[in-house]
Amino acid sequence: MRQPLVAGNWKMNGSIENIKELLDGIKQGIIEYGLDKGNSVEIVVCPPSIYLAEVHSQIKDSAISLGAQNVSDQASGAFTGENSVSMLKDYGCKYSIIGHSERRTLYAETDQFIAKKFAVVCEAQLIPIFCIGELLEEREAGKTEDIVSRQIDAVLDVVDISAFKNSVIAYEPVWAIGTGKTATPDQAQEVHAFIRKKLSDLDADTGAQVQILYGGSMNASNAEELLGMPDIDGGLIGGASLKPTDFLAICNAANATVNEKESLV
Ligand code: PEP
Repeated sequence: MRQPLVAGNWKMNGSIENIKELLDGIKQGIIEYGLDKGNSVEIVVCPPSIYLAEVHSQIKDSAISLGAQNVSDQASGAFTGENSVSMLKDYGCKYSIIGHSERRTLYAETDQFIAKKFAVVCEAQLIPIFCIGELLEEREAGKTEDIVSRQIDAVLDVVDISAFKNSVIAYEPVWAIGTGKTATPDQAQEVHAFIRKKLSDLDADTGAQVQILYGGSMNASNAEELLGMPDIDGGLIGGASLKPTDFLAICNAANATVNEKESLV
């Protein structure tokens, strides 16, 4: 059984004042919903890197895990503005998002550059949350599978398939990110199943184990349906992760639907 995972990508939002309010809300909800038990949903927050230390200290006695939004492909040295994997580990990060579409489109990160980060993150025993997904014109041209395949193949050029066993993939159709447009549960499931089959064809255990999250305007109202799909193991949440009530509703939906999936096994 794959553990459900919900990760909040705060992007470049937050302040020292409102981080406490946000985290207190999440911590309180975790207790209210009973999300701190054995095989519950794993809840991850990914604040801006400047707040990692603050968030690390505020979540230390909670069930919340910490992730970064990005990481350098380099270990140390003259790379102004970057953070290395060892720095993320110093502040208790378990995860790092890599290849988010905003990094790909706004900062020109290529498949190969992201693949290098994937390798560096795995080598440091952090867990990559590896984002992939197609643009609207690519979906409309029927190229979705080609695009996600190309993005995964770039990683497979530099790591062994087994590296995906301890990795998380986030399928995020770019046209659904921050737009309020969500892939339908069937559209998302189709791509998730394709990704899982692609990995399973190379190694059945890896395909069965890898957690594949959906991201793209997931919110409190659509989460249950999306998370109920067999190959959707959780969510990468942008906008809704900044509102504790909405974020918790998604976490709770992930928890509940996976319990349902478990009873079907
Ligand atoms: C994201 O940025 O990864 C994301 C899914 O954003 P949103 O939920 O706001 O669409």
